[in-house]
Amino acid sequence: MSVSLDHVRELDRQDPLAGFKQRFALPEGVLYLDGNSLGAQPKRAREAVSATMDQWRDELIKGWNQGWFDAPERLGNKLAPLLGAREGEVIVTDNITLNIFKLLGYITGQRRDGRRVVLSEGGNFPTDGYIAQGYCRFGDYEHRFLPEGADLAEHLDGVAVVVLSEVNYRTGRRRDMAAITRLVHAHGAEVIWDLAHSAGALPVDLNGCDARYAVGCTYKYLNGGPGAPAFLYVHRDHQDGGWQPLSGWHGHAAPFAFDADYAPAGDITRFRTGTHSALIYSALEASLDEWADVDMAALREKSLAMTELFRDCLADVLERFGIEDITPPAHERGSQVALIDEAHGFAIVQALIARGVIGDYREPGLLRFGFTPLYLSFEDVWQAARHFREVLESGEYREPRFNVRSAVT
Ligand SMILES: *Cc1c(COP(=O)(O)O)cnc(C)c1O
Repeated sequence: MSVSLDHVRELDRQDPLAGFKQRFALPEGVLYLDGNSLGAQPKRAREAVSATMDQWRDELIKGWNQGWFDAPERLGNKLAPLLGAREGEVIVTDNITLNIFKLLGYITGQRRDGRRVVLSEGGNFPTDGYIAQGYCRFGDYEHRFLPEGADLAEHLDGVAVVVLSEVNYRTGRRRDMAAITRLVHAHGAEVIWDLAHSAGALPVDLNGCDARYAVGCTYKYLNGGPGAPAFLYVHRDHQDGGWQPLSGWHGHAAPFAFDADYAPAGDITRFRTGTHSALIYSALEASLDEWADVDMAALREKSLAMTELFRDCLADVLERFGIEDITPPAHERGSQVALIDEAHGFAIVQALIARGVIGDYREPGLLRFGFTPLYLSFEDVWQAARHFREVLESGEYREPRFNVRSAVT
Protein backbone atom coordinates (compact mmCIF):
# COMPACT_ATOMS: atom_id res chain seq x y z
CA MET A 1 0.00 0.00 0.00
CA SER A 2 1.06 3.59 -0.54
CA VAL A 3 1.13 4.23 3.22
CA SER A 4 3.31 2.21 5.61
CA LEU A 5 2.22 0.57 8.84
CA ASP A 6 4.96 2.48 10.67
CA HIS A 7 3.48 5.73 9.45
CA VAL A 8 -0.04 4.99 10.71
CA ARG A 9 1.33 3.82 14.06
CA GLU A 10 3.08 7.15 14.38
CA LEU A 11 -0.23 8.91 13.62
CA ASP A 12 -1.80 6.91 16.46
CA ARG A 13 0.97 7.92 18.86
CA GLN A 14 0.27 11.58 18.08
CA ASP A 15 -3.53 11.28 18.19
CA PRO A 16 -5.03 13.42 21.01
CA LEU A 17 -8.23 11.30 20.91
CA ALA A 18 -6.45 7.95 21.14
CA GLY A 19 -7.47 7.49 24.79
CA PHE A 20 -11.17 7.22 23.97
CA LYS A 21 -10.90 3.84 22.29
CA GLN A 22 -10.46 2.01 25.57
CA ARG A 23 -13.71 3.51 26.83
CA PHE A 24 -15.60 1.38 24.29
CA ALA A 25 -16.43 -2.31 24.40
CA LEU A 26 -15.41 -3.49 20.95
CA PRO A 27 -15.49 -7.14 19.94
CA GLU A 28 -12.13 -8.78 19.32
CA GLY A 29 -11.14 -9.00 15.67
CA VAL A 30 -13.68 -6.48 14.41
CA LEU A 31 -12.86 -3.34 12.45
CA TYR A 32 -16.05 -1.37 12.75
CA LEU A 33 -16.75 1.08 9.93
CA ASP A 34 -20.49 1.20 10.48
CA GLY A 35 -20.72 3.64 13.37
CA ASN A 36 -22.73 5.84 11.01
CA SER A 37 -25.55 3.26 11.25
CA LEU A 38 -25.22 2.06 14.84
CA GLY A 39 -22.48 3.40 17.09
CA ALA A 40 -20.35 1.12 19.27
CA GLN A 41 -21.04 0.49 22.94
CA PRO A 42 -19.43 2.78 25.53
CA LYS A 43 -18.37 0.67 28.51
CA ARG A 44 -20.20 3.05 30.81
CA ALA A 45 -23.46 2.37 28.97
CA ARG A 46 -23.62 -1.21 30.23
CA GLU A 47 -23.01 -0.06 33.81
CA ALA A 48 -25.61 2.67 33.44
CA VAL A 49 -28.31 0.34 32.10
CA SER A 50 -27.51 -2.16 34.80
CA ALA A 51 -27.83 0.58 37.43
CA THR A 52 -31.23 1.54 36.00
CA MET A 53 -32.33 -2.10 36.19
CA ASP A 54 -31.39 -2.05 39.88
CA GLN A 55 -33.21 1.23 40.34
CA TRP A 56 -36.34 -0.25 38.76
CA ARG A 57 -36.06 -3.28 41.05
CA ASP A 58 -35.42 -1.30 44.24
CA GLU A 59 -37.23 1.97 43.75
CA LEU A 60 -40.11 0.88 41.53
CA ILE A 61 -42.28 3.83 40.55
CA LYS A 62 -40.20 6.25 42.62
CA GLY A 63 -37.62 5.97 39.83
CA TRP A 64 -39.63 8.40 37.72
CA ASN A 65 -38.83 11.10 40.27
CA GLN A 66 -35.18 10.07 40.43
CA GLY A 67 -34.15 11.21 37.00
CA TRP A 68 -36.26 9.14 34.66
CA PHE A 69 -39.03 11.65 34.02
CA ASP A 70 -36.87 14.66 33.21
CA ALA A 71 -34.34 12.68 31.16
CA PRO A 72 -35.55 14.15 27.81
CA GLU A 73 -34.67 17.69 28.93
CA ARG A 74 -31.57 16.73 30.93
CA LEU A 75 -30.06 14.78 28.03
CA GLY A 76 -31.07 17.54 25.63
CA ASN A 77 -29.00 19.97 27.67
CA LYS A 78 -26.04 17.58 27.66
CA LEU A 79 -26.31 17.27 23.90
CA ALA A 80 -26.76 20.99 23.22
CA PRO A 81 -23.05 21.96 23.28
CA LEU A 82 -22.30 19.38 20.56
CA LEU A 83 -24.91 21.04 18.37
CA GLY A 84 -24.07 24.69 18.99
CA ALA A 85 -27.32 25.08 20.91
CA ARG A 86 -28.13 26.61 24.29
CA GLU A 87 -29.69 25.19 27.41
CA GLY A 88 -33.41 24.64 26.85
CA GLU A 89 -33.19 24.41 23.07
CA VAL A 90 -32.77 20.65 22.66
CA ILE A 91 -34.94 17.79 23.81
CA VAL A 92 -34.22 14.06 23.45
CA THR A 93 -37.40 12.25 22.49
CA ASP A 94 -39.08 9.80 20.10
CA ASN A 95 -37.36 9.20 16.76
CA ILE A 96 -36.45 11.39 13.80
CA THR A 97 -39.55 10.40 11.86
CA LEU A 98 -41.91 11.51 14.62
CA ASN A 99 -39.89 14.62 15.37
CA ILE A 100 -40.11 15.77 11.75
CA PHE A 101 -43.86 15.24 11.87
CA LYS A 102 -44.13 17.29 15.06
CA LEU A 103 -42.09 20.14 13.62
CA LEU A 104 -44.02 20.15 10.34
CA GLY A 105 -47.25 20.57 12.27
CA TYR A 106 -45.77 23.12 14.64
CA ILE A 107 -44.40 25.27 11.81
CA THR A 108 -47.30 25.06 9.39
CA GLY A 109 -49.76 25.64 12.24
CA GLN A 110 -48.23 29.09 12.75
CA ARG A 111 -48.44 30.21 9.12
CA ARG A 112 -51.15 32.59 8.04
CA ASP A 113 -49.86 33.28 4.53
CA GLY A 114 -51.56 30.46 2.65
CA ARG A 115 -48.36 28.63 1.75
CA ARG A 116 -49.24 24.94 1.53
CA VAL A 117 -46.12 23.29 0.10
CA VAL A 118 -43.82 21.03 2.09
CA LEU A 119 -40.59 20.37 0.26
CA SER A 120 -38.32 17.45 1.02
CA GLU A 121 -35.28 16.38 -0.91
CA GLY A 122 -34.87 13.59 -3.40
CA GLY A 123 -31.94 11.38 -2.45
CA ASN A 124 -32.39 11.90 1.28
CA PHE A 125 -32.93 9.05 3.74
CA PRO A 126 -36.44 7.95 2.72
CA THR A 127 -38.23 8.37 6.04
CA ASP A 128 -37.87 12.16 5.82
CA GLY A 129 -39.86 12.14 2.57
CA TYR A 130 -42.30 9.47 3.73
CA ILE A 131 -43.32 11.39 6.83
CA ALA A 132 -43.58 14.66 4.89
CA GLN A 133 -45.92 12.87 2.49
CA GLY A 134 -47.95 11.46 5.37
CA TYR A 135 -48.18 14.86 7.00
CA CYS A 136 -49.36 16.48 3.77
CA ARG A 137 -51.90 13.77 3.05
CA PHE A 138 -53.69 14.17 6.33
CA GLY A 139 -53.13 17.91 6.72
CA ASP A 140 -54.12 18.95 3.20
CA TYR A 141 -50.67 20.20 2.28
CA GLU A 142 -48.86 19.62 -0.98
CA HIS A 143 -45.66 17.61 -0.87
CA ARG A 144 -42.92 18.14 -3.42
CA PHE A 145 -39.48 16.68 -3.86
CA LEU A 146 -36.51 18.91 -4.48
CA PRO A 147 -34.77 17.00 -7.29
CA GLU A 148 -31.29 15.78 -6.38
CA GLY A 149 -28.69 18.35 -7.37
CA ALA A 150 -31.30 21.04 -8.09
CA ASP A 151 -30.88 24.67 -7.08
CA LEU A 152 -32.99 25.12 -3.95
CA ALA A 153 -33.61 28.82 -4.65
CA GLU A 154 -35.63 27.87 -7.73
CA HIS A 155 -37.93 25.56 -5.80
CA LEU A 156 -39.04 27.73 -2.90
CA ASP A 157 -42.10 29.42 -4.41
CA GLY A 158 -45.10 28.77 -2.22
CA VAL A 159 -43.04 26.61 0.13
CA ALA A 160 -43.89 26.76 3.81
CA VAL A 161 -41.25 24.31 5.07
CA VAL A 162 -38.32 22.42 3.63
CA VAL A 163 -36.73 19.34 5.21
CA LEU A 164 -33.03 18.97 4.44
CA SER A 165 -30.17 16.84 5.69
CA GLU A 166 -26.95 18.65 6.44
CA VAL A 167 -24.95 15.55 5.48
CA ASN A 168 -26.38 13.15 2.91
CA TYR A 169 -26.58 9.57 4.16
CA ARG A 170 -25.38 8.08 0.87
CA THR A 171 -22.72 10.36 -0.48
CA GLY A 172 -21.64 11.93 2.80
CA ARG A 173 -21.91 15.33 1.11
CA ARG A 174 -22.27 18.21 3.53
CA ARG A 175 -24.36 21.27 2.81
CA ASP A 176 -23.55 24.82 3.85
CA MET A 177 -26.09 25.02 6.65
CA ALA A 178 -25.60 28.73 7.36
CA ALA A 179 -25.97 29.85 3.74
CA ILE A 180 -28.98 27.62 3.04
CA THR A 181 -30.73 28.66 6.25
CA ARG A 182 -30.32 32.30 5.20
CA LEU A 183 -31.62 31.55 1.72
CA VAL A 184 -34.71 29.72 2.96
CA HIS A 185 -35.55 32.42 5.49
CA ALA A 186 -35.09 35.11 2.82
CA HIS A 187 -37.76 33.30 0.79
CA GLY A 188 -40.14 33.40 3.70
CA ALA A 189 -39.93 29.67 4.38
CA GLU A 190 -38.63 27.60 7.28
CA VAL A 191 -36.13 24.76 7.21
CA ILE A 192 -35.99 21.65 9.39
CA TRP A 193 -32.41 20.39 9.43
CA ASP A 194 -31.84 16.67 9.76
CA LEU A 195 -28.53 16.14 11.55
CA ALA A 196 -28.54 12.31 11.54
CA HIS A 197 -25.11 12.19 9.90
CA SER A 198 -23.76 15.36 11.51
CA ALA A 199 -24.31 14.98 15.25
CA GLY A 200 -21.17 13.44 16.73
CA ALA A 201 -19.59 13.27 13.28
CA LEU A 202 -18.47 16.88 13.04
CA PRO A 203 -18.88 20.20 14.86
CA VAL A 204 -22.40 21.58 14.40
CA ASP A 205 -23.30 25.21 15.10
CA LEU A 206 -27.08 25.55 15.04
CA ASN A 207 -27.15 28.95 16.74
CA GLY A 208 -24.28 30.21 14.61
CA CYS A 209 -26.21 29.21 11.46
CA ASP A 210 -29.34 30.93 12.76
CA ALA A 211 -31.14 27.59 12.45
CA ARG A 212 -34.58 27.49 14.04
CA TYR A 213 -35.50 23.81 13.77
CA ALA A 214 -33.50 20.60 13.66
CA VAL A 215 -33.75 16.90 14.40
CA GLY A 216 -31.23 14.09 14.54
CA CYS A 217 -30.55 10.70 16.00
CA THR A 218 -28.33 9.51 18.79
CA TYR A 219 -27.75 5.88 17.87
CA LYS A 220 -25.38 6.62 14.98
CA TYR A 221 -22.28 8.70 15.68
CA LEU A 222 -23.44 9.52 19.22
CA ASN A 223 -23.34 5.87 20.35
CA GLY A 224 -26.60 5.97 22.30
CA GLY A 225 -27.50 2.33 21.60
CA PRO A 226 -30.03 0.50 19.43
CA GLY A 227 -33.30 2.42 19.48
CA ALA A 228 -31.85 5.33 21.44
CA PRO A 229 -34.16 8.34 21.17
CA ALA A 230 -33.72 11.14 18.68
CA PHE A 231 -33.30 14.84 19.44
CA LEU A 232 -35.28 17.87 18.45
CA TYR A 233 -34.01 21.44 18.50
CA VAL A 234 -36.05 24.63 18.43
CA HIS A 235 -34.34 28.01 18.66
CA ARG A 236 -35.15 29.84 21.87
CA ASP A 237 -37.06 32.61 20.05
CA HIS A 238 -39.39 30.14 18.33
CA GLN A 239 -40.59 28.04 21.21
CA ASP A 240 -43.89 29.78 21.75
CA GLY A 241 -45.61 28.86 18.50
CA GLY A 242 -48.62 26.90 19.63
CA TRP A 243 -49.35 23.21 19.39
CA GLN A 244 -47.34 20.47 17.84
CA PRO A 245 -49.68 17.84 16.35
CA LEU A 246 -48.73 14.87 18.57
CA SER A 247 -50.23 16.53 21.61
CA GLY A 248 -49.57 13.97 24.32
CA TRP A 249 -49.59 14.19 28.07
CA HIS A 250 -45.82 14.53 28.54
CA GLY A 251 -45.89 17.68 26.40
CA HIS A 252 -48.72 19.17 28.44
CA ALA A 253 -48.09 22.27 30.54
CA ALA A 254 -49.10 20.25 33.64
CA PRO A 255 -48.98 16.54 32.83
CA PHE A 256 -49.93 15.44 36.32
CA ALA A 257 -52.92 17.77 36.61
CA PHE A 258 -54.73 15.29 34.35
CA ASP A 259 -56.83 18.04 32.78
CA ALA A 260 -59.24 16.95 30.08
CA ASP A 261 -57.98 19.59 27.65
CA TYR A 262 -54.54 19.86 26.16
CA ALA A 263 -52.39 22.92 26.81
CA PRO A 264 -48.82 22.85 25.49
CA ALA A 265 -45.89 23.30 27.86
CA GLY A 266 -44.33 26.74 27.52
CA ASP A 267 -40.92 25.54 26.41
CA ILE A 268 -39.14 22.75 24.50
CA THR A 269 -41.00 20.23 26.68
CA ARG A 270 -44.07 20.63 24.46
CA PHE A 271 -42.34 18.38 21.94
CA ARG A 272 -42.58 15.38 24.22
CA THR A 273 -45.40 12.94 23.54
CA GLY A 274 -45.79 10.07 26.01
CA THR A 275 -43.82 7.71 28.23
CA HIS A 276 -40.24 6.95 27.19
CA SER A 277 -37.84 4.12 28.04
CA ALA A 278 -35.77 4.87 31.13
CA LEU A 279 -33.40 2.04 30.18
CA ILE A 280 -32.28 3.31 26.82
CA TYR A 281 -32.06 6.89 28.11
CA SER A 282 -29.56 5.71 30.69
CA ALA A 283 -27.40 4.13 27.96
CA LEU A 284 -27.50 7.34 25.96
CA GLU A 285 -26.72 9.48 28.98
CA ALA A 286 -23.61 7.43 29.71
CA SER A 287 -22.50 8.04 26.15
CA LEU A 288 -23.20 11.78 26.33
CA ASP A 289 -21.10 11.93 29.49
CA GLU A 290 -18.20 10.62 27.41
CA TRP A 291 -18.88 13.22 24.73
CA ALA A 292 -18.50 15.97 27.33
CA ASP A 293 -14.73 15.30 27.21
CA VAL A 294 -14.39 15.43 23.42
CA ASP A 295 -12.68 18.28 21.60
CA MET A 296 -14.84 18.59 18.46
CA ALA A 297 -12.15 20.38 16.44
CA ALA A 298 -9.78 17.47 17.10
CA LEU A 299 -12.58 15.06 16.21
CA ARG A 300 -13.13 16.76 12.86
CA GLU A 301 -9.43 16.79 12.10
CA LYS A 302 -9.09 13.09 12.84
CA SER A 303 -12.24 12.22 10.90
CA LEU A 304 -10.92 13.90 7.76
CA ALA A 305 -7.49 12.37 8.22
CA MET A 306 -9.04 8.90 8.52
CA THR A 307 -11.29 9.18 5.46
CA GLU A 308 -8.30 10.50 3.52
CA LEU A 309 -6.07 7.67 4.71
CA PHE A 310 -8.61 5.03 3.70
CA ARG A 311 -8.95 6.53 0.23
CA ASP A 312 -5.19 6.90 -0.21
CA CYS A 313 -4.63 3.27 0.71
CA LEU A 314 -7.22 2.13 -1.84
CA ALA A 315 -6.99 4.60 -4.72
CA ASP A 316 -5.01 2.41 -7.12
CA VAL A 317 -6.95 -0.79 -6.48
CA LEU A 318 -10.34 0.93 -6.76
CA GLU A 319 -9.34 2.28 -10.11
CA ARG A 320 -8.14 -1.12 -11.25
CA PHE A 321 -11.43 -2.76 -10.30
CA GLY A 322 -13.63 -0.02 -11.74
CA ILE A 323 -15.02 1.06 -8.34
CA GLU A 324 -15.98 4.71 -8.27
CA ASP A 325 -15.07 6.86 -5.26
CA ILE A 326 -17.82 9.47 -4.88
CA THR A 327 -16.59 10.80 -1.52
CA PRO A 328 -16.90 14.61 -1.60
CA PRO A 329 -13.87 16.89 -1.14
CA ALA A 330 -12.85 17.49 2.48
CA HIS A 331 -14.67 20.81 2.98
CA GLU A 332 -17.97 19.22 1.84
CA ARG A 333 -17.48 15.87 3.55
CA GLY A 334 -19.23 14.28 6.49
CA SER A 335 -17.42 11.42 8.19
CA GLN A 336 -17.76 8.65 5.65
CA VAL A 337 -16.31 7.25 2.46
CA ALA A 338 -18.77 6.39 -0.32
CA LEU A 339 -17.92 4.04 -3.17
CA ILE A 340 -20.06 2.82 -6.05
CA ASP A 341 -19.96 -0.66 -7.58
CA GLU A 342 -23.37 -1.73 -8.84
CA ALA A 343 -22.24 -5.16 -10.00
CA HIS A 344 -20.29 -6.36 -6.96
CA GLY A 345 -20.81 -3.81 -4.16
CA PHE A 346 -23.09 -6.03 -2.09
CA ALA A 347 -20.78 -9.05 -2.33
CA ILE A 348 -17.67 -7.02 -1.54
CA VAL A 349 -19.28 -5.69 1.63
CA GLN A 350 -20.33 -9.23 2.63
CA ALA A 351 -16.81 -10.55 2.04
CA LEU A 352 -15.41 -7.72 4.16
CA ILE A 353 -17.88 -8.48 6.95
CA ALA A 354 -16.74 -12.12 6.91
CA ARG A 355 -13.22 -10.79 7.60
CA GLY A 356 -14.51 -8.67 10.47
CA VAL A 357 -14.49 -5.40 8.53
CA ILE A 358 -18.01 -4.07 9.00
CA GLY A 359 -19.24 -1.45 6.56
CA ASP A 360 -22.61 -1.38 4.88
CA TYR A 361 -24.25 -1.57 1.51
CA ARG A 362 -27.13 0.58 0.30
CA GLU A 363 -28.98 0.12 -2.95
CA PRO A 364 -28.16 0.88 -5.66
CA GLY A 365 -24.49 0.00 -5.65
CA LEU A 366 -23.30 2.04 -2.68
CA LEU A 367 -20.54 0.81 -0.35
CA ARG A 368 -20.53 3.00 2.72
CA PHE A 369 -17.82 3.24 5.37
CA GLY A 370 -18.28 5.41 8.44
CA PHE A 371 -15.29 6.74 10.35
CA THR A 372 -15.73 7.32 14.06
CA PRO A 373 -12.71 9.05 15.57
CA LEU A 374 -13.45 8.02 19.15
CA TYR A 375 -13.02 4.29 18.72
CA LEU A 376 -11.06 3.84 15.52
CA SER A 377 -7.31 4.13 15.29
CA PHE A 378 -5.35 4.98 12.17
CA GLU A 379 -4.01 1.45 12.23
CA ASP A 380 -7.61 0.13 12.20
CA VAL A 381 -8.26 2.17 9.08
CA TRP A 382 -5.08 0.89 7.47
CA GLN A 383 -5.94 -2.73 8.33
CA ALA A 384 -9.46 -2.31 6.95
CA ALA A 385 -8.02 -1.00 3.70
CA ARG A 386 -5.62 -3.95 3.57
CA HIS A 387 -8.55 -6.37 3.87
CA PHE A 388 -10.40 -4.48 1.19
CA ARG A 389 -7.46 -4.90 -1.20
CA GLU A 390 -7.22 -8.59 -0.42
CA VAL A 391 -10.95 -9.13 -1.00
CA LEU A 392 -10.63 -7.57 -4.43
CA GLU A 393 -7.32 -9.05 -5.46
CA SER A 394 -8.15 -12.58 -4.31
CA GLY A 395 -11.59 -12.44 -5.98
CA GLU A 396 -13.15 -13.93 -2.85
CA TYR A 397 -16.15 -11.61 -3.13
CA ARG A 398 -17.29 -13.78 -6.05
CA GLU A 399 -17.99 -16.73 -3.74
CA PRO A 400 -21.72 -17.65 -3.72
CA ARG A 401 -21.99 -17.24 0.08
CA PHE A 402 -21.29 -13.51 -0.28
CA ASN A 403 -24.10 -13.05 -2.75
CA VAL A 404 -27.06 -14.02 -0.50
CA ARG A 405 -29.26 -11.21 0.89
CA SER A 406 -30.68 -11.05 4.43
CA ALA A 407 -33.40 -8.75 5.84
CA VAL A 408 -31.23 -5.99 7.34
CA THR A 409 -28.35 -4.88 5.13
C1 LIG B 1 -30.88 7.35 10.17
C2 LIG B 1 -31.71 8.43 9.62
C3 LIG B 1 -33.05 8.58 10.01
C4 LIG B 1 -33.68 7.59 10.97
O1 LIG B 1 -34.97 7.97 11.34
P1 LIG B 1 -35.64 7.31 12.64
O2 LIG B 1 -37.03 7.79 12.59
O3 LIG B 1 -34.90 7.83 13.84
O4 LIG B 1 -35.53 5.83 12.50
C5 LIG B 1 -33.76 9.65 9.50
N1 LIG B 1 -33.20 10.52 8.63
C6 LIG B 1 -31.91 10.40 8.24
C7 LIG B 1 -31.33 11.40 7.29
C8 LIG B 1 -31.15 9.34 8.70
O5 LIG B 1 -29.89 9.19 8.28
